[in-house]
Amino acid sequence: MALIEARSLHLGYERREVVRDLSLTLPEGRITIIVGANGSGKSTLLRGLSRLLTPRSGRVLLDGTDIHALRGKDLARRLGLLPQSPIAPDGVTVRDLVARGRFPHQGLFQQWTAADEQAVAGALAATRTDELQDRLIEELSGGQRQRVWIALALAQQTDVLLLDEPTTFLDVTHQLEVLDVVRDLNRERGTTVGIVLHDLNLAARYADHLVAVRDGEIHSQGSPGEVITEQMVHEVFALSSRVLPDPVTGTPMVLPLGRDPQPAHQPDLDAPDLDAPEPEDAMTTTTDSHPAPDAEAAHAEPDAAPVRVPALEHSPQLAFDLTVAAVRPLGQNLMRVTLTSPELVHFGTGAHPLDLRIKLIVPGPRPSADHFAPIRPDGQLDPAGSADWYRRWLQIDPEDRGWLRTYTVRDLRGAGHPGNLGKHPELDVDMVLHLEPEQALGSGVAARWAQQVAPGDRIDVLGPNRHVVGPDYGGIEFRPGTARTLLLVGDETAAPAICSILEALPAQMTGRAVIEVADESDRQPVLTRSAVQLTWLVRGDAPHGELLDAEVRRLMCENAQAFREEGAQTTRPELEDVDIDSTILWETTVGEGAFYAWLAGEAGVIKGLRRHLVTELGIDRTQVSFMGYWRQGRPEM
Ligand SMILES: Cc1cc2nc3c(=O)[nH]c(=O)nc-3n(C[C@H](O)[C@H](O)[C@H](O)COP(=O)(O)OP(=O)(O)OC[C@H]3O[C@@H](n4cnc5c(N)ncnc54)[C@H](O)[C@@H]3O)c2cc1C
Repeated sequence: MALIEARSLHLGYERREVVRDLSLTLPEGRITIIVGANGSGKSTLLRGLSRLLTPRSGRVLLDGTDIHALRGKDLARRLGLLPQSPIAPDGVTVRDLVARGRFPHQGLFQQWTAADEQAVAGALAATRTDELQDRLIEELSGGQRQRVWIALALAQQTDVLLLDEPTTFLDVTHQLEVLDVVRDLNRERGTTVGIVLHDLNLAARYADHLVAVRDGEIHSQGSPGEVITEQMVHEVFALSSRVLPDPVTGTPMVLPLGRDPQPAHQPDLDAPDLDAPEPEDAMTTTTDSHPAPDAEAAHAEPDAAPVRVPALEHSPQLAFDLTVAAVRPLGQNLMRVTLTSPELVHFGTGAHPLDLRIKLIVPGPRPSADHFAPIRPDGQLDPAGSADWYRRWLQIDPEDRGWLRTYTVRDLRGAGHPGNLGKHPELDVDMVLHLEPEQALGSGVAARWAQQVAPGDRIDVLGPNRHVVGPDYGGIEFRPGTARTLLLVGDETAAPAICSILEALPAQMTGRAVIEVADESDRQPVLTRSAVQLTWLVRGDAPHGELLDAEVRRLMCENAQAFREEGAQTTRPELEDVDIDSTILWETTVGEGAFYAWLAGEAGVIKGLRRHLVTELGIDRTQVSFMGYWRQGRPEM
């Protein structure tokens, strides 16, 4: 057991002080949870406690010794930190990553020992990640990945463990799972735990000691019953609420009623705390990092002139200036375009891309300026002004700005991946060549670009900023939840997404995938560990979607037992019929049952199939995600 305490701590970034004269003791062998509104200083406090941030004044003591007086390795043997959104190097297996937790215990001459082996095996077992140990990190779900990071911290066998928002981006089952693992560790080993958490009700359930932070100072601390009151929720979160006993645990449960009309202390920006590490310090839990400009600092002075912050740290979506590395025909109607740039190191969600969508900005014939410069990685961005970039972009002449088109990331490979052509990260986009001889300007621009593109050409791509978003990023729609039986259906535009999803599925998944393509040559090889069976349909001269429609109806009829849950009832009322001519069809959900359908492609075809599943067969809407990827006769805006 160990005691960690802050004494008169002042922490900040550049000219802005974020934590003020704060003294705090994390009780030995107990779980302390720190809560507070966005921008209150809670993550900055954790950075200070873990030596990621050097105090301006004051001290952090570990069993009475100033942590800044300890050698890096000595501190790492005693204090572990799981930062927000840690990033694993590409191509690393679960076991390799967890084994890195043993680095602080290895000397120059003493390499891997039986004790290291035991610590890694114990950490894998405690987090139930032992069965994943040979899998690559990028193949795991968000919840599995978070358990692996905790396993790494466990393997480090420290007396103190600090975790910054360990449940962000996880669904509720995985949130509980992660916190249960931490609690077991605390109870079994007596580890002193400090957690920053944004969910008050989870904090109340798991904390022995709760600390509420407001404006960089401690507002109140004590047992959850002492700290969680309607007054505290009002003063710290600017929220009206009722506090009731949790019917399961008896701990206080906050029922929010609404935001207070005049929030006294709440910064207005609902941005995540920006303590995500740079990729290179992701594995390093004890070295000082560069003091990153912090949302807490950047947004705390609402009346000052617009604050410009690096786009990399703020914008969930960035513009990437990419070079075409290769162009390869995959079939008569399908072209694989491989894009690369050192900037891609900032791209992604930290997880397998699944059906991750991006926007290509197909260049116009007369470009005059770089319209995306402010949201390139590291560009300076005024968060307030950046919100309406799309409206402003649309006002520019298309021949200058180009055209926005939506595509799927078929594959994303980090730097150094053996499949790469060069030294930088790469992404593949598979583009359908639906070429009509006479098309108006602005119509079919993406298909034409794909047909003419050559290595060395450049293109802008809008995509997720991996420092800010996680696997719950809205650009991913495949969310089967608890489902184990899948139905994946699409035409050639959805083939890249279905192939990518199949490659990520774990072995226990079963069901069917059906893809309709124009020509025999457009079929693609796909590797999947899952038991989902893939059928390719070749359209030939048949109308678009006719074969797909017939095949899905046949499958649903033959496999009614597997695809429809016994006794399942529709729990949500059916949509009013959506008019395909006025609105593109799109409703995605997180699967809630044993069965989950994901349908994408031409909107009319998909609408017909979705209606068959939901209206005719009575499958719950919450189990069917459907996306009109394009509409016959309508160019994308
Ligand atoms: C989330 C999402 C992911 C997508 N992923 C992919 C992907 O990975 N690969 C891919 O190729 N497409 C994908 N698409 C579809 C792609 O965005 C559209 O096909 C887009 O219209 C192509 O742009 P364009 O400039 O070539 O044609 P547009 O200018 O948009 O359309 C011109 C004309 O061509 C027709 N048309 C458009 N697309 C097709 C088509 N595929 N076949 C036949 N006629 C067509 C239109 O009806 C219109 O009449 C995706 C769409 C979405 C929404």
